[in-house]
Amino acid sequence: MVGDCYVSRLYKDGIGSAYRTAKAAAQTAFMTGISRRDFHKHYRPVCDAVANDNRFGKVVFTATNLIKRSPFLRRGVMRMTNGEQAGFATPE
Ligand SMILES: Cc1cc2nc3c(=O)[nH]c(=O)nc-3n(C[C@H](O)[C@H](O)[C@H](O)COP(=O)(O)OP(=O)(O)OC[C@H]3O[C@@H](n4cnc5c(N)ncnc54)[C@H](O)[C@@H]3O)c2cc1C
Repeated sequence: MVGDCYVSRLYKDGIGSAYRTAKAAAQTAFMTGISRRDFHKHYRPVCDAVANDNRFGKVVFTATNLIKRSPFLRRGVMRMTNGEQAGFATPE
């Protein structure tokens, strides 16, 4: 089971994670073997890494949604962005 069948990276990287899980499955089958143990040792960690990454992604999306809903936090982000952009102004 590869790609969306098992685990898919959050927000716009489903193709990347489908590629990574397919590659790990193919490498396991060709280089190691097709037993349950082989897949547990070589394929599962790749899928777990994607699932772990998604956990961090969910926290980031939750924080972003909170900021979007709060005018106070939104103003803070705008002020920070304006400050950063002012620092990046190109010299004429
Ligand atoms: C609207 C939308 C936008 C997306 N945008 C992006 C993006 O910008 N970037 C990104 O990285 N990811 C994006 N994704 C996610 C990405 O498309 C998927 O994560 C990725 O295609 C998963 O690949 P896959 O091979 O697992 O499945 P799929 O690409 O869905 O391939 C599964 C294939 O199996 C076939 N199939 C199904 N059932 C059977 C059957 N019974 N017999 C034979 N064949 C069958 C299907 O027809 C299909 O061709 C988007 C997804 C959606 C829905």
